[in-house]
Amino acid sequence: MSTSKRAIPAFSQPMIDTHCHLDYLKERPLDELIKCALEANIQSLITIAVSPANQQTVRDLLQLHPMIYGTQGVHPHDADQLTQDGLDENRAHIGLSKMVAVGEIGLDYHYEHSPRAVQRKVFEAQLQVAVDHNKPVVIHTREADEDTRAILANFSRDLKKRGVIHSFSSGMALASFCLDEGYALGFNGMCTFNKADNVREILRYTPATQILLETDAPYLTPVPYRGQENAPFYLPFIAEKIAQIKALTIDDLLAQVYKNSVTVFGLHSCGKYPWAEWRETNGYTLDTE
Ligand SMILES: [Zn+2]
Repeated sequence: MSTSKRAIPAFSQPMIDTHCHLDYLKERPLDELIKCALEANIQSLITIAVSPANQQTVRDLLQLHPMIYGTQGVHPHDADQLTQDGLDENRAHIGLSKMVAVGEIGLDYHYEHSPRAVQRKVFEAQLQVAVDHNKPVVIHTREADEDTRAILANFSRDLKKRGVIHSFSSGMALASFCLDEGYALGFNGMCTFNKADNVREILRYTPATQILLETDAPYLTPVPYRGQENAPFYLPFIAEKIAQIKALTIDDLLAQVYKNSVTVFGLHSCGKYPWAEWRETNGYTLDTE
């Protein structure tokens, strides 16, 4: 017996899932994920690299569909696995078409899978890659507010493109610092969770011009689909909740966050792909580009 859940809301404005991990989704094949995402009016998605083992996978994904953009970078969990060769490899590919940022990088003192000192060193080394290649960054930070702030402060002058603190769940002081510095904050299904009043408080404080939408799929599935594998096509539930928290119409919110996504990641400069041809052979249509 299956309980029926509310259908995915249909919005007329296009959306961009700025943070997902396509290669970690297991329940549906890629074509089906893409088809469902396009039906939900998700126009583009950014699939995020996390470990030395999946950098090439992300590069391969960029070739598979015009809507897929990507990043190169190693998550703090795997910081102790990043060798100099690995770092050089990421440097060599960060300039690829549709490779939009260095990430995800940062500090995670909650799980502490890599020693803190190693996390800081690897975070700094990857921020330097972003500086050298003039790319924005996708930052993961958990229970490391003070060190994140100190490190970003050191890069304040050189890191011109800024970027996003994704899945923002840190404290107000870090939020305020990052917003003042010009970073965007990324919000996902967490804002639909009963217990996440802290996230909703940060959202209320964040100007609409600095909000990005993300799913972080396969993690953090929004209500009412919690317990199932997350996917980019659930993004409308997150958008709906954020519009409600910000007291904006859905159209106003989506128009603004779309603009933010394009600006933060420079998506307009990634259009060298033979999209029209790809779509023709695969039967997809996109009305809004
Ligand atoms: Zn992530």
